[in-house]
Amino acid sequence: MDTIEFDMNSMVERELAKLLGPKKFYSVSSPFERASVAGRRIRQGDFELWQSMLPDLEDDYQVVIANLKRLMGKGEGYLSSALYAHVRINEMPRLKALQERMFHLDLERLKAIDAVMSKADVSDEDIRDVIDVELSDYLTPTRANQLLPSINDIRKKLNAIIQSLDDSISTDDSPPRDEKGSFDVTYRESDAFINVQLDPVEAKKIEMRVRKYAKAHKITEVEALQQLIAGEGTTNITLNVYQAHDVEGAPGWIPGLGYIRSSQADDLAADASVVQDMDELYDKVADTYETPDDIRAVVIGWDGTCTDPYCDCREDRTQMDHRIDYKEGGPTTAANLGPKCPTHHNVKTDGRSFYIIDPHTRDKYILYEDGTWVLVEAKGPLSLKERHWVQTVGKRVQNRRERIRSESQEKREAEKLSEPPPPADDIPPPF
Ligand SMILES: [Zn+2]
Repeated sequence: MDTIEFDMNSMVERELAKLLGPKKFYSVSSPFERASVAGRRIRQGDFELWQSMLPDLEDDYQVVIANLKRLMGKGEGYLSSALYAHVRINEMPRLKALQERMFHLDLERLKAIDAVMSKADVSDEDIRDVIDVELSDYLTPTRANQLLPSINDIRKKLNAIIQSLDDSISTDDSPPRDEKGSFDVTYRESDAFINVQLDPVEAKKIEMRVRKYAKAHKITEVEALQQLIAGEGTTNITLNVYQAHDVEGAPGWIPGLGYIRSSQADDLAADASVVQDMDELYDKVADTYETPDDIRAVVIGWDGTCTDPYCDCREDRTQMDHRIDYKEGGPTTAANLGPKCPTHHNVKTDGRSFYIIDPHTRDKYILYEDGTWVLVEAKGPLSLKERHWVQTVGKRVQNRRERIRSESQEKREAEKLSEPPPPADDIPPPF
């Protein structure tokens, strides 16, 4: 059904499209609009072209690339990453079948999937299967006119899946990579660049300190960094870590950063000064226009960041938009608030867009003044879809623990059987 193509120039076909077209689709694959129909056709052509050009394993790489350069007019970096991306999707049968039904993934998204996958240990077929299933689920539309996840969203989700597999499938509990990081300063012309590679959670803490200190003292962030490092100032930060308390082995989630390992989240929770049950705040109403921090934490936990399509602004820059204006009686409660960056907050305040929030899933139907609309899924860990995903992770962790337990029991039984009978001297006399 998804592959029927309708001619948008014909009124009859437009009506047919409404009757026969798919009911669940990403807006980029909408069969009802000219631009999305054309876009889908381009992606399909592009996908089929690359698939038809995949070399055989024994072909000479340099010859293949030289030929592609001539035919495609692109450089080696572009061409080799495209080939790898297409080899990768061929190793993911579910995702490939989905793509061949919808042609929703463009080459850039396929390349991003391959880039993240190349960091995972996919030699294990079980691991590859789980990734294939979960990524395909993530990239399957569940409603009409849904916004396709961005490249960044896909990278984050795939990373989270891979990370959760380390926790739940691999029996190797050692840290996944060298945690030491690196520190480097380079000087170029009249500028210098400090490059530090470190654990993302630690980086987040530094980022928060610098930004908070700069804001409080009305100085630039560079000045704030200098003063903090020189020990001329101090600041306190509150790092919100979200973690499902009712799911064993649940990963943590940090705004702007995404999911973190369950073990790391457990450590942070152990050090936390305040542990808050978010469910208790869902219905909290403040009697002020300003949103208190705890209600803001619920809204960010539901939505992640600015809810406008493909707005990847920092979550700490988002303002709390009263969906129904405070002056018109809209309460300051999570259900009536949406995070918006200053730009998109203005668009909403001007009336150029409006949105309706599904109270159950927290998905948003954004309505534009020209009558078009799009469904934007909630991305935060408190949203229904993410909660479901965390449960599947929890189930995997549980299965793994049970498997390890039963394997060790079997091992013990086997050891008992193979143990030599106790020496005759040890047998107590029967009296
Ligand atoms: Zn925005």
